[in-house]
Amino acid sequence: MSYTIAIDGYSACGKSTLAKAMARQLGYRFIDTGAMYRMVTLYFLRENIDIDNAGAVAGALEGLRVDFVPGSNHALLNGEDVEMEIREPAVSGFVSPVAAISAVRRWVVPQQREMGKTGGIVMDGRDIGTVVFPDADLKLFVTASIDVRTDRRLAEMMAKGVATTRAEVAANLAQRDHIDSTRADSPLRQAEDAILLDNSNLSLGEFIAAGMAEVEKLSA
Ligand code: C5P
Repeated sequence: MSYTIAIDGYSACGKSTLAKAMARQLGYRFIDTGAMYRMVTLYFLRENIDIDNAGAVAGALEGLRVDFVPGSNHALLNGEDVEMEIREPAVSGFVSPVAAISAVRRWVVPQQREMGKTGGIVMDGRDIGTVVFPDADLKLFVTASIDVRTDRRLAEMMAKGVATTRAEVAANLAQRDHIDSTRADSPLRQAEDAILLDNSNLSLGEFIAAGMAEVEKLSA
């Protein structure tokens, strides 16, 4: 079987880590949909697009191509590897308002459906189980306490040498969660048939095992 697995949840709760690990174990393709919104955001920042100007947004989307490098899965914006740049605070601080624009979602979502149409995919984001693949074989909704999420994201940023503070990281996560959960188009919420995984008190190994246990139940 080639399942479609949707993983949604709050910012910095370990969705991508879980999705990547599960995709590796299953031999599936992994798609980080947040990276797609981050690439759009980086492009808008570079091109100085006024996001309140619908014409400017539509025009910018016409000049845009987002993809992933086969193998490394690095984010590719118009052929340029922007994997590092899309994780920087400037992008994190602007991505949620950009992702709330319906025209942006109407441009991104069909590409995600195309990538997943053959199954054998683990896709993580905010609306995968609710909007992109409402019929996914398995839906996981991941969460962790805000303190745990802040500590993990801060450690990640420090390791990458990004200049930031704990307060800045905490504020960004809280702001994104708020915008993502309250937007009109495709708000972040747990699908009714999604399984909740709270990893606040789990080791990485336990967390991945919990996700894989749900896959095993599908064929049991
Ligand atoms: O997953 P990540 O934290 O990189 O996502 C960045 C942002 O992209 C989120 O805060 C959210 O605003 C947006 N996003 C979204 N829908 C998705 C994935 C991400 O709106 N499926």
